Amino acid sequence: MTKQKNGLTRRRFLERVGVAGGSAALYETMAALGLINLPEAWAGPPQIPAGSGTGKKVVILGAGIGGLTAAYELAKANYTVQIIELTERAGGRNHTARRGTVLEEKTEGGETFRQVCKFDEGLYLNLGPGRLPYHHRRVLHYCQVLGVALEVYVMETMANLFQTNKAFGGQPKVRRQIYNDIQGYISEMLAKAVNQKALNQEMDDGDRNRLLCLLKTFGDLGENKLCSQCGKQKCATCNKSCAECITCEKQCETCFDYTGSTRDGCIITVKDPCEPGDKLALRELLSSEFWEHRFYQSFEYEWQPTLFQPIGGMDKIVDGFVDKVGKLIQYNTEVLNIDTSAKGVTITVRDRKNGKRTNINADYCISNIPLPILSKIKNNFSDEFAKAVETCVYDPTCKLGWQANQRFWENDKNQIYGGISYTDDPITQMWYPSYDYFTKNGTLTGVYNYDQDAIRFGNMKPADRIVEARKGAIKLHPEFADMRIVPSDKAISIAWQNIQNEGGGWANWDPNNDDHSKAYTRLLRPDGRFYVTGDQVSQLPGWQEGHGVGAICGRAYQQAGRDPGGTADHHSRSKFATFDSWSIASLFCHKLEVLSGSTKKFE
Ligand SMILES: Cc1cc2nc3c(=O)[nH]c(=O)nc-3n(C[C@H](O)[C@H](O)[C@H](O)COP(=O)(O)OP(=O)(O)OC[C@H]3O[C@@H](n4cnc5c(N)ncnc54)[C@H](O)[C@@H]3O)c2cc1C
Repeated sequence: MTKQKNGLTRRRFLERVGVAGGSAALYETMAALGLINLPEAWAGPPQIPAGSGTGKKVVILGAGIGGLTAAYELAKANYTVQIIELTERAGGRNHTARRGTVLEEKTEGGETFRQVCKFDEGLYLNLGPGRLPYHHRRVLHYCQVLGVALEVYVMETMANLFQTNKAFGGQPKVRRQIYNDIQGYISEMLAKAVNQKALNQEMDDGDRNRLLCLLKTFGDLGENKLCSQCGKQKCATCNKSCAECITCEKQCETCFDYTGSTRDGCIITVKDPCEPGDKLALRELLSSEFWEHRFYQSFEYEWQPTLFQPIGGMDKIVDGFVDKVGKLIQYNTEVLNIDTSAKGVTITVRDRKNGKRTNINADYCISNIPLPILSKIKNNFSDEFAKAVETCVYDPTCKLGWQANQRFWENDKNQIYGGISYTDDPITQMWYPSYDYFTKNGTLTGVYNYDQDAIRFGNMKPADRIVEARKGAIKLHPEFADMRIVPSDKAISIAWQNIQNEGGGWANWDPNNDDHSKAYTRLLRPDGRFYVTGDQVSQLPGWQEGHGVGAICGRAYQQAGRDPGGTADHHSRSKFATFDSWSIASLFCHKLEVLSGSTKKFE
């Protein structure tokens, strides 16, 4: 079962770097981790030679996106593929709730919960993955190949809200006000500091002037005025007398005061044009600590627009794979024992419906089973490999979905069409649907939390979660107080750490922990003929793209001259430079090479 650890997952680590250091710090960190290179690393789908799998059998454990991708690619190369899935559905964490969806949870304390989704017919909510960044080329590739239609997932709109009880009298404020007013204040202060010669050592006159011009535009620092009108003796931008100002860069002749901006929005009447309204007080903005609550999330690489979502729910990707390889899946089958050797694998399974046990013999096994669950299955792994499997823990995370019988967030008052509102309440955020605009009802993700909040929330009974989530939601939208608009009996929640076949949201690999680093590296190599796959053994845990990093790298690997040391093509290799350097990228290539019989190269 997932435990909260001191270490951060790579996913959460990046989120926090973004919160604390802004996008520049995040960029540096991602570059250091090798993630920034991911888009260029895309080299097309793996080119497994046609027919190379003839006469070889692969058993795949788990029909998550990772297992399905492996099955799809290997089956194309004529491997005999069998997929063993514990539950009665494919997709794993890629799970979309619709009317009739059943969710079963078991808490660490042994309490069990069962929920049945009661959304109106046609409504849905993604319980796990909800968005696909434009640079996740592998997942987007499979969407294209499988005919999964995509639409834009709106990550942010300027009408989204931020709420905290620490400021603004607890009232939510619209993003555009916070965003523009803080930018205005910071620009004003920096411009004034420049004028007081604070940066004279760092910049010459020309750069100072250009910086002032930038700040004026960046912060919308008021109208042009001659310096005498600002009560000055000298022109701020060129140090000439006010009378000579005309020879300076005229557009910078401003008092550098932030007096509010029409960027905050305004009301236009027949009589009145758009004028700046009251700006938010700087002290309130600072007290709110809005930047600590994902306000700048959309600046971070993984969440930068454009993002996409499959039309009709994230599980359309699963449907696409099931269309291709569904007949290879043996559902409701539990893995009891794994026996691996240099020659092959024997997997003992039990049919959960009739209890019948069977031994499956295969040349290779690829396991998509979440590592914390795999560690509990009987096996003959080497000590080193078994320890690596045990080292991985998954993070707790929860979501709660509401059905709303009116799209009140789209009304004249709110004008919200997609995006996310944030709050410092434990619900953390509220997602608005990026589809079916202007229709009669819709679903909202009303909780998406992590760490201690998720542990606490996950230990509550589903009915208590709804009460708690409603309290947080009311702070953003008073309509949540009205059960006719947002009924409790149509809400559904999930605590991923309580889902027995998952054990949490995503692998918690701490890049600063040596044991983690060792375990992760070890898992990239097989134990006998047993391989691990999925986002859990990628630099993108918590992203479907993670499974594909391995699956797609075959081509890049081939382009690198099949030289894992990277001497053949430094360019290709550097694209995968990570804390484990080569092996992450080669995970699946490695498998393919091994499956094609040339193991030695990679040991
Ligand atoms: C809350 C949340 C939000 C997310 N958001 C995003 C997002 O916005 N975008 C994105 O791209 N990704 C997101 N992800 C991550 C995404 O869900 C995963 O990267 C992806 O689904 C993992 O696929 P997988 O195949 O590696 O593993 P899984 O989906 O975990 O598949 C494992 C499979 O193994 C099966 N299994 C378990 N035990 C056994 C057993 N004993 N025998 C046989 N089978 C077994 C399971 O039933 C399951 O089918 C999110 C995940 C969560 C939880």
